[in-house]
Amino acid sequence: MPDELLLTGGLVVDGSGGPAVTADVLVRAGRIAAIGPGLSAPVARDVTGRVVCPGFVDIHTHSDLTLLSDPRALSKVHQGVTTEVVGNCGLGVAPLAPGVPVAPIRAAVGYLDLDAAVDWSWPDLAGYFSVLAAAGPGINVASLVGHLALHGSVVGFTDRPAGAAEVDRMCGLLGEAFDAGAVGLSTGLVYAPLPYVRDDELLALARVVAGRDRIFTWHVRNYDDALVDSVTQAVRVARATGARTQISHLAAVGRRNWGAVRKALDLVDAANADGFDIGVDIYPYLHGNAPLSQLLPAHTQEGGPEAWMPRLADPAVRAFVRAAWVDRPTGWDEITLSWTSRPAPDPVVGSSVAELAAAAGVDGAEIVLDLLAALGNGVLMTAGGRSEDDLRAVLGHPATVVASDGLALDPGGVTGAGVPHPRSYGTFPRFLQRYAADLPDGIRRCTSAPAARVGLSDRGLLRPGAPADVVVFDPARLADRATFTAPHQFAAGIDLVLVNGAVTVDGGEHTGARAGSVLRGNT
Ligand SMILES: [Zn+2]
Repeated sequence: MPDELLLTGGLVVDGSGGPAVTADVLVRAGRIAAIGPGLSAPVARDVTGRVVCPGFVDIHTHSDLTLLSDPRALSKVHQGVTTEVVGNCGLGVAPLAPGVPVAPIRAAVGYLDLDAAVDWSWPDLAGYFSVLAAAGPGINVASLVGHLALHGSVVGFTDRPAGAAEVDRMCGLLGEAFDAGAVGLSTGLVYAPLPYVRDDELLALARVVAGRDRIFTWHVRNYDDALVDSVTQAVRVARATGARTQISHLAAVGRRNWGAVRKALDLVDAANADGFDIGVDIYPYLHGNAPLSQLLPAHTQEGGPEAWMPRLADPAVRAFVRAAWVDRPTGWDEITLSWTSRPAPDPVVGSSVAELAAAAGVDGAEIVLDLLAALGNGVLMTAGGRSEDDLRAVLGHPATVVASDGLALDPGGVTGAGVPHPRSYGTFPRFLQRYAADLPDGIRRCTSAPAARVGLSDRGLLRPGAPADVVVFDPARLADRATFTAPHQFAAGIDLVLVNGAVTVDGGEHTGARAGSVLRGNT
């Protein structure tokens, strides 16, 4: 790795939202040394006609465990991502209360767990960070605390309010994780046992977040018929505690709910006008991706997968679930299986529930119930039912940043199985090419704006002295290539990616460099 690299003649978009300027960028000893005209250095590269901008800061990811399967973060760095924030949607991997076994928590966060060979050996966030740093990540990684690990390990998996002592214990563990460098707390109120969490627990945790000036990110309780009520809950907690708050992947699912995102954005605007700090993120696609178990009523998921998987054999339970599904906002034709924990290739992957039902001569509910009974959280879906108008309304809103909600995947490795959501490969090029109002504002929403949400103030800007996380792309060729049927394809047009000054992608090829670091919030 040369200690010094000069990029000459590029169109520099510095991440602030300010206008593009033609300038040279000098990188020295891992940092931006200078930006301006007429710079010189022994090692220079002509990037005329290319855009030079900060590496993308993906604040909503689920790469907690896949980074330990392949630390290069290939699907991410090839789209220009140089920093990821893991631990979203409540699904983090730390901390666990001391003495609590990992297995039930690991089963509950199955969405993250694509490689059974990853050894989950840490009890707390400091331990996770040590394992991650030892693995040598190819990009920078910061982490939120996942509410599921906190609540699951302290309160368990039954539907009951946490006691006062339990809430205190969770607040203490949260504070310790902030001491270890977590940048915030995430909740995910659809992921059992989090549907059983009462407001007093959310308020207490939010007060810890506010006291430490971290961020509280919310996968809200419901994104279809109850979207507005669910965002109202998050806004209420933000207003009561002053916690900086992020509404994760704001979208309305189901045709009958289209337009509800505008009401949610109005709630955000009203709170921000009153001096609170609420942001929004979204990925530029019309499908989501989640465990199939997310379709189950919360009541049915009591006890964790070990309890509910056998329960799904009970005809009375099946009848209860079927009744809950009679008026679903999306059809079985809009739900496609994207991955299972069975050995790849699993023949059901890539088919919609409706297709599998037709082939088997049963209804969609039967297919889903059987899959969940057999695989628990080890079956993932992509689900449609969203509107392009809603997506554009959210992406254009001043409080919105772009985030993938995806995972760092290796197309040639264990995590390259199945047909995952293409967002893991294409989010940032797709947004810039299709949705950005203009390049400076689009790049700001992928760099400094998300970095500021999570308090990573030295990332996301090209400034002398800043760490040299840099992307050079060809605006004429920039494109996402990953699709819902062939997702394992890197983005096009990303020519050069520097992570902390190290050339990590060059000419579209990964160099093998792994120069990322663990980023800690202010402790
Ligand atoms: Zn998520």
